[in-house]
Amino acid sequence: MSLSDLPIAGKKVLVRVDFNVPLDPKGNILDDTRIKAALPTIQYILDQGASPILMSHLGRPKGEKNPKLSLAVCAERLKSLLGQKVEIAPDCIGEKVEKLAKGLKPGQILLLENLRFNPGEENPESDPSFASSLAKLGDFYVNDAFGTAHRAHSSTVTIAQYFVGKRAPGLLMQKEIDFLDSAFAAPKRPFYAIIGGAKVSTKLEVLKSLLEKVDALFIGGGMAYTFLKAQGFEISDSLVEDQLLPFAKEFLELSEKKKIPVFLPKDFVVADAFSNNANKKIVLSASGIPPGFQGLDIGPITRTEWANTLKAAQLVFWNGPLGVFEFSNFSEGTHSIAITVADLDAITIVGGGDSVAAINQLKIAKQFSHISTGGGACLEYIQYGHLPGIDAISTN
Ligand code: AMP
Repeated sequence: MSLSDLPIAGKKVLVRVDFNVPLDPKGNILDDTRIKAALPTIQYILDQGASPILMSHLGRPKGEKNPKLSLAVCAERLKSLLGQKVEIAPDCIGEKVEKLAKGLKPGQILLLENLRFNPGEENPESDPSFASSLAKLGDFYVNDAFGTAHRAHSSTVTIAQYFVGKRAPGLLMQKEIDFLDSAFAAPKRPFYAIIGGAKVSTKLEVLKSLLEKVDALFIGGGMAYTFLKAQGFEISDSLVEDQLLPFAKEFLELSEKKKIPVFLPKDFVVADAFSNNANKKIVLSASGIPPGFQGLDIGPITRTEWANTLKAAQLVFWNGPLGVFEFSNFSEGTHSIAITVADLDAITIVGGGDSVAAINQLKIAKQFSHISTGGGACLEYIQYGHLPGIDAISTN
């Protein structure tokens, strides 16, 4: 069933959107790609004379109310993007919210407060009543939150059972699935993946699965140092997950056995503190990072080596920044690889809030084949070929 099959005119449509936008320390939205990406679905519902009731999470409040993670900031941004009032509910369930939902007129929009303020969102089995309380608010259910489709949460999976025959993917979700299906069903080769970000632990399984699929892997960002330490390089104060050293070692041995090259940084920009204003210098991985320093970006030799190798690619998937790109003094590695990938004559797919934010900083989004709103979701879709949030709405 697709959104256009649902007879929503005059009805209330619960829409799971992904407004999990990056915020600066003052709570301002750093990048509103995800809000903009939900606009076609919201506009479609409004155009049908229906009322969208939007629900999303923001950040990791861990089941507790946290005013710093209120979706009010997203309601404001949505209001200015659509040019119409967007009401923010005081909570996501409960009597007050039900009253607000009931009172909505066709063409009016309600945004529920952060779903993850309630512990039932992330732990549906501990509180099945949370999903049913959400379900009460709408006549139809649309899931447009591709970025959260890899999580089996109350608002992405459990809720769907209350809308048999009345549920569908949103336009963004459909676009994401269609693109990934066409790119990965029979991937063009060589297929290269660039993986960055802070931790190996969050991407263990995905890394293993990528080894089965890609022709080469490029590992940067904070996670590279665990692999480098496993190879015996001195990484000093760089980010490391010591408990994963055996995994990193086995992973590199397996890649050798499979003859899948894994590119790790050959040089870095290192700093004497985790700060944009720290003293910095460039060091070779072979020389080791000096005591008191930590690697915060990939260095110029690495950028050139990766750019030269990436030229051969027919398909590139990139997830995760290659350095602490939030610090302008350590963003050059991420920016330079972004420009390299943008200029490739290949299918180029980028997923993940941080990588997308870096691309938007450079204003080169149009040069990519597909900018996905979901990093983790993309990775798991490549890995498994399906996602719980999509499965839940795949049948009538
Ligand atoms: P993730 O959520 O795992 O994709 O990680 C994204 C975060 O990784 C960003 O906030 C980056 O600042 C951070 N990051 C990237 N490279 C490094 C590094 N070398 N050291 C510490 N953090 C890093």
